[in-house]
Amino acid sequence: MILVLKEKYSREEYNKLTESLKSMGLQLHESRGSHTTIIGLIGDTSAVDDEHLASLDIIETVKRIQEPYKNANRKFHPLDTVVKVGNAKIGGGEVSVIAGPCSVESKEQLCSVAEDVKRSGAVLLRGGAFKPRTSPYAFQGLRDQGIKLLLEAKAETGLPIVTEIMDISHLPLFENVDVIQVGARNMQNFELLRELGKTKKPILLKRGLSSTIEEFLMSAEYIMAGGNENVILCERGIRTFERATRNTLDLSAVALLKTLTHLPVIVDPSHATGIASLVKPMALASVAAGADGLIIEVHNDPPHALCDGQQSLTPQAFDDLMKSVKNIEPYAYKAQA
Ligand code: PEP
Ligand code: MN
Repeated sequence: MILVLKEKYSREEYNKLTESLKSMGLQLHESRGSHTTIIGLIGDTSAVDDEHLASLDIIETVKRIQEPYKNANRKFHPLDTVVKVGNAKIGGGEVSVIAGPCSVESKEQLCSVAEDVKRSGAVLLRGGAFKPRTSPYAFQGLRDQGIKLLLEAKAETGLPIVTEIMDISHLPLFENVDVIQVGARNMQNFELLRELGKTKKPILLKRGLSSTIEEFLMSAEYIMAGGNENVILCERGIRTFERATRNTLDLSAVALLKTLTHLPVIVDPSHATGIASLVKPMALASVAAGADGLIIEVHNDPPHALCDGQQSLTPQAFDDLMKSVKNIEPYAYKAQA
């Protein structure tokens, strides 16, 4: 990190600044020109508050050289992280597909979709039990009963399960859930992230509706800073001016994230587009862009789904998608470590 000081400052201000930086364990490398003094900070600057420094009278500019996400950064961890979930591996090159309904609705619905997606090659079953709905009057999910049904589907099919947590007080219900999802709306629920960092469970972290790539990585950093390295990132579309699709799928984020971080990056083309017919082309594009996996909504009867039927694939359409994914895989972009 580099600090440029104002042309005029008092000795007192200078001492206060340099002492506080040294007390953080940083070494200071100073270079004095005829008008400008530049201080280079050497050491771990992740705890340095750039905005606070920039607000000081003595400071002209602050420039970060290294990204503030030291655990998620690929620079310090060049090898891909592979998150193991049962027999499934997410990250490290292979394309792993998670599939299942938006919401758990009934045992019959869940088990029939689970059997179908497993047969087509999905390695994890998804299904929302606690649903973050825009309207409080919309179906809110079967909650703890939904988790019970997911565990039954896991026992019947052998597929590990992933489901969303909305409140940390629900954590005990997730004891036998294999992957805990943090939804887009909670990407910056820092207390939730901090608590999940204390667990050893794999976390599927979705990108916030209007979050930058750096904010996304800093949220992963919250989980990792607590000691949980099992984070899977999920690009699920961001909000732009475009209303023809539910969100705008930011595929450049996928290729870029693969260079910035060693964490696995998967794509959710269902929520990114909101339109079933767009799910397959965007899934193929995601694999081509280097995604480590996909998460796809599949329903046995989309027109009657209690949530997100318009973007849900039938089991047959999902099977067709999986076959095409296999064809694209050999041509997928591989990020340079
Ligand atoms: C979901 O996956 O069910 C979901 C609600 O997604 P998102 O948080 O990306 O909107
Ligand atoms: Mn959904």
